[in-house]
Amino acid sequence: MAPNTVRFSTKHGQTPTMASTPRPIRRLIEGVKQFRQRAFPDKQQLFERLATGQNPHTLFITCADSRISPDLITQSAPGDLFVCRNIGNIVPAYGEMMGGVSAVVEYACTALRVTDVVICGHSDCGAMKGLLDPGKHGLEKMPTVSSWLRNAEAARSVVAVTKPELEGEPLVEALVEQNVKLQLAHLRTHPAVASALAEQRLTLHGWVYDIKSGLVSEFNRGEEKLVPIAHAAA
Ligand code: ZN
Repeated sequence: MAPNTVRFSTKHGQTPTMASTPRPIRRLIEGVKQFRQRAFPDKQQLFERLATGQNPHTLFITCADSRISPDLITQSAPGDLFVCRNIGNIVPAYGEMMGGVSAVVEYACTALRVTDVVICGHSDCGAMKGLLDPGKHGLEKMPTVSSWLRNAEAARSVVAVTKPELEGEPLVEALVEQNVKLQLAHLRTHPAVASALAEQRLTLHGWVYDIKSGLVSEFNRGEEKLVPIAHAAA
């Protein structure tokens, strides 16, 4: 190896040189170039309008999972969605963990006056799987993640008593759904949400996105049943 050549192992076991490797960051840089050359000119008027302010209609809270693309699954444009992402699409109850999520919720409802909040869970959620089996998913080495997931613990305990027969994928599915309902309940404890609901200028929605089929379902008004959005009334 030449003295100044940096070598590293990839997960496939190769040891290519840095200079010759198409690293993921190179793909991102290429994407940025394509955005500037092709996508940006197509939407230049939109970006000029957005340059001086935003007026998103919806706060979209979803998991940090890389497989979810809020703009793609809702076919939204820049400026439409105010997005908050974290592990497990969690909204800590007000007063529990006053951090980024609480600030986003407050800002969206008070300053931006969004008309809708969506909490969108998803199939095969690693956070929910970790909650069900912390040992298998190495949570003992991730104290911060473990602590964060406590905000979803009530969903796990509800599923444990209401659907004790479930295991495997159906159990994860049930927990994903129950967690969306729990986080909607947490959302209502935030004063900015409670007051906007009292003024009837805000609607909350619980969604679940199925990665394999692309189907997005929403809870009906009573939050009892998930209905595929393709079949739901507008
Ligand atoms: Zn997830």
